[in-house]
Amino acid sequence: MARVKNFVGGRWLESTATFHEPVYNPATEEILAEVPHSTQSELEAAVDIAEESFKSWAQVDVLKRARIMFTFHELLIRDKKILAELITKENGKALAEALGEVQRGIESVEFAAAAPSLMMGETLSAVATDVEAINYKYPIGVVGGIAPFNFPMMVPCWMFPLAIVLGNTFVLKPSEKTPLLAAHLATLLQEAGLPDGVFNIVNGAHDVVNGLLEHRAVKAISFVGSQKVGEYVYKTGTANLKRVQALTGAKNHTLILKDANIENAIKNVITAAFGSAGERCMAAAVIGVEEEIYDEFIDKLVRAAQNIKIGNGMDKDTFLGPLIRKESRMRTVNYINKGVEEGAVLRLDGREQHFDKGYFIAPTIFENVTQDMMIWKDEIFAPVLSVNKIKGLREGIELANSHTLANGACLYTNNASAIRYFRENIDAGMLGINLGVPAPVSFFAFSGWKDSFYGDLHANGKDAIEFYTHRKVVTARFPKEDISHG
Ligand code: NAD
Repeated sequence: MARVKNFVGGRWLESTATFHEPVYNPATEEILAEVPHSTQSELEAAVDIAEESFKSWAQVDVLKRARIMFTFHELLIRDKKILAELITKENGKALAEALGEVQRGIESVEFAAAAPSLMMGETLSAVATDVEAINYKYPIGVVGGIAPFNFPMMVPCWMFPLAIVLGNTFVLKPSEKTPLLAAHLATLLQEAGLPDGVFNIVNGAHDVVNGLLEHRAVKAISFVGSQKVGEYVYKTGTANLKRVQALTGAKNHTLILKDANIENAIKNVITAAFGSAGERCMAAAVIGVEEEIYDEFIDKLVRAAQNIKIGNGMDKDTFLGPLIRKESRMRTVNYINKGVEEGAVLRLDGREQHFDKGYFIAPTIFENVTQDMMIWKDEIFAPVLSVNKIKGLREGIELANSHTLANGACLYTNNASAIRYFRENIDAGMLGINLGVPAPVSFFAFSGWKDSFYGDLHANGKDAIEFYTHRKVVTARFPKEDISHG
C-alpha cells in the first residue's frame, strides 16, 4: 500500500509514525493510500527548516516571488483535470464540482501573483513640518496551515500562495482524510522553481496540529474546519501568542419571499443544499419560505430533489456523490432518526442504502423544524435540508439570527427594499441575493461571523495581506536647513 510522504525542505520523507490511517475513495471504499499520523518531533523538524528558509526567502524580491506564482498558475492550468480527478477520488464530490474547486484555487493564485501591488505600504508626505510617515509591510515568518477535508485544493490555496508570495514560509497540515491533492500541489510548486523549505507538508492529525500551535517559530496559524476544533485552535494558538484566523462551521439560512422567481430559487437551493453532498461551509441548511408560496415551493423542491442523480463522482451524469466516510453516513442517519423522533416532518428520506459500496445519503428534506431540535441546532454537513414556513422577511431574519453560527445567508426576492433590509439586519458575513452559494471570490475576505469565525482578519482579500504581514512605520524628518541654497 502506497504511503503518503511528508514534504520537508524540498524532499519527500517517509514518516516514522507508528500509526497510519487509510485514505478511502468514499464512492468505492477502495483504499487509495495510507497517511501517517506524523509525530510532534517530525513537525518540529519541518518548522525548523521553514524557519531557516525564511531567512533567505524573505530577502528574495517580491517580483521574483510573484513570477514563481505565475509559473505555478500555468502548471495548475496544465494539470487542471488531474487535480480535479484527484479531488473526486479522495473526497467523492462530482467531477464538475471538483473542476470548480480547482478553478477557485487557481483564482487564489491569481490574487497572490499581484503581490507587488498588494504589499505596497502607505505614505503621508507631511505629518509635521518637514516630517513624513511611511508604512512598510514585511513577512512575519513561519505560517502554519490546518485544512479540512471538504476542499482539499481550494482551502490550502486560500492560505499558502498568499503567505509565501508575501515572503513567509509555510507548513501545511492537510486533512488526513484528503492528503493526496496537497502532495500534487507540492510537486507543482517545486516544478515552478520555489526554493526548498519555503513550502512544507507534514501529514497527520492532532499531534501535528498541537505541534504547530506550540512551536515558538510559528508566527501565525490559518485554520479551516469545524467549530469546536476551530475554537480550540484559536484559544490555544493565541494563548501561545500567535496570530490565529479560524474559519469554522456553518448553518446557513436562506429566505424565499413571495415575489421571488421560484424556478430560479429551486434550481439554486438544489445546488446549494445537495451539491458536494452538503459538505460545504456555504451549504444551504435551513430554508424559510413565505407562507403564500410555501406549498408550491415545497412540492417543486421535493420533485427536483427526487430527480437528482446519485453516484460515483467520476461518472459524467452524477450530481450527488458520497459523504466522506462511513462514520459521516452513520452520523447523518442518526440525525435523520433524531429529527423524526423530535417531531419534524420527513418529506424526503435519503437513508436508504443505494449501492453495495460507498457512503451515500440521498437528498433528505424535513419540514416543520423548530429551534429546539438537534437538526436545527447542529451543522449536519450532509445533504439534509430543513424547510419551514415563515410569515415574512422579519420573522425569517429573526430565526436565522437566533443561531450561533453565521457564515452565509441568502435571500430570494425582487424587492430592493427587502434586499436592503436583509443586508442591514442579518447576522452573517457572506450574503447571496438570488443565488445559492455566496462564496466570495478570492479578492474579497471570506467573512464568517459569530461562532463561524474566530479571529480578527479573515482569509483572502485585503484581510489576508494584513494577516500574513507586519508593518514598520518610519517617521522621518528632512530639515530644510540641510539643503544648500544656490
Ligand atoms: P475538522 O475540524 O474535523 O478538521 C479540520 C482540521 O483539524 C483537520 O486538519 C483535522 O486533522 C484537524 N483536527 C480535527 N480534530 C482535531 C482535534 N481534536 N485537535 C486538533 N486538530 C484536529 O473539520 P473537517 O471535518 O475536516 O471539515 C468540515 C468542517 O469544516 C465543517 O464544519 C465546515 O463547515 C468547516 N469548513 C469551514 C469553512 C469556512 O470557511 N468557514 C470552509 C470549509 C470547511
